[in-house]
Amino acid sequence: MSKKFSPESLMMSYGYKPELSEGAIKCPIFQTSTFVFNRAEEGKAFFEVAYGKREKLANEELGLIYSRLNNPDLEILENRLCLWDEAEDCSVFESGMSAITTVLMEFLKPGDLLLYSSPLYGGTDHFIHHFLPSIGVEVLGFKAGQEQEEIIQLLENSSKADKLKMIYIETPANPTNDLIDIACLKGVADKYSTEDKQVLVTVDNTYMGPLWQHPLKHGADLVVYSATKYIGGHSDIIAGAVLGCKELMARVKTLRTFLGNMAGPWTGWLLMRSLETLKVRMEQQQKNAIEIASFLNTHDKVKKVNYLGLLKEGTKAYDIYKKQHSGSGAMISFQVVGGEQEAFTFLNNLSLIKLAVSLGSTESLAQHPKTMTHAGVDEQHLEEMEITDSLIRLSVGVENYEDIIWDITQSLDKI
Ligand SMILES: *Cc1c(COP(=O)(O)O)cnc(C)c1O
Repeated sequence: MSKKFSPESLMMSYGYKPELSEGAIKCPIFQTSTFVFNRAEEGKAFFEVAYGKREKLANEELGLIYSRLNNPDLEILENRLCLWDEAEDCSVFESGMSAITTVLMEFLKPGDLLLYSSPLYGGTDHFIHHFLPSIGVEVLGFKAGQEQEEIIQLLENSSKADKLKMIYIETPANPTNDLIDIACLKGVADKYSTEDKQVLVTVDNTYMGPLWQHPLKHGADLVVYSATKYIGGHSDIIAGAVLGCKELMARVKTLRTFLGNMAGPWTGWLLMRSLETLKVRMEQQQKNAIEIASFLNTHDKVKKVNYLGLLKEGTKAYDIYKKQHSGSGAMISFQVVGGEQEAFTFLNNLSLIKLAVSLGSTESLAQHPKTMTHAGVDEQHLEEMEITDSLIRLSVGVENYEDIIWDITQSLDKI
């Protein structure tokens, strides 16, 4: 008898063989730079596969060579991450930014066009606007909410549509939770793909993954994560990951080998530990967020709440939400009545909730996007995105939700 277990059932054991580690129930930290070959022939065989000189034989495992190429703490972690997104392969990095920039550098060459959704995470936005143009990659932004025809028109008007090589999406958009229909952008990618050029769709799934949104199922070719957020989940680590099919991941892993921006064994081990509680953490965070969003929604010092669970039936956003997500997540943003001063009064008076950027952690975090995470975005754009003086972003943690609501209430009272 065999049964296909759920990812959460496999996070404690998948891909690890205790007999190779003195029977230890947990995967040890393989804090080693290099690995001993039994014989020279073995070393030769490992390198042949690692350098793509020949295909792996059936049942042959890639031998361990050197920790910039592979290490058990990374490989087992990568195998486990694949289960959530049902991806063929995964590659982990020392930060979300190194995962993202490695993908952009591998697949975009001088003369190519990148179409991206806006707003993006600040670091990604900076790389796209400052680094990519310096190597001759052209970039073009579209906004969440634009229809497929509008996006195609935008491409046609740019007169560079035939150069399109990648569409890069962040959904839900940070911090407003605006949604982008991944399948719709896949349609755009297909329209501009030719026999010798596949237009790739890459999705930053940091906000909703790997539990509530699985972009590969909706047509994405690559999924990227800041594993610093929900995957790590404890505000104690910086890491990133990329997932996709074998062919694309072979290219990502090769560039990672030569940039040398892979995660270290200690990071890999910590992330494996985090994955064991990923689902219980995220589900508790979501339960709390649902309570908090509905509380905020009726509070007279709160003007507007952006939360997926509050989307109204019959709207386009609601349709995308239902199609693309299995939950409403744990990220909320809301406008307090007033402006920057009122928003700061709220932030300065919190006691349980911490005033910090980042998200997805066990503790609740609040920040002011306009002057903090989105300080680099230009004024007009901030306005279009409704990133106002009074907007607060809240990442809901695993605390007792009544305590979080108590903290929010007493802090709103100070306004
Ligand atoms: C934090 C974050 C990143 C960057 O990840 P780091 O781990 O900080 O390098 C990228 N995208 C999103 C959506 C993020 O929240």
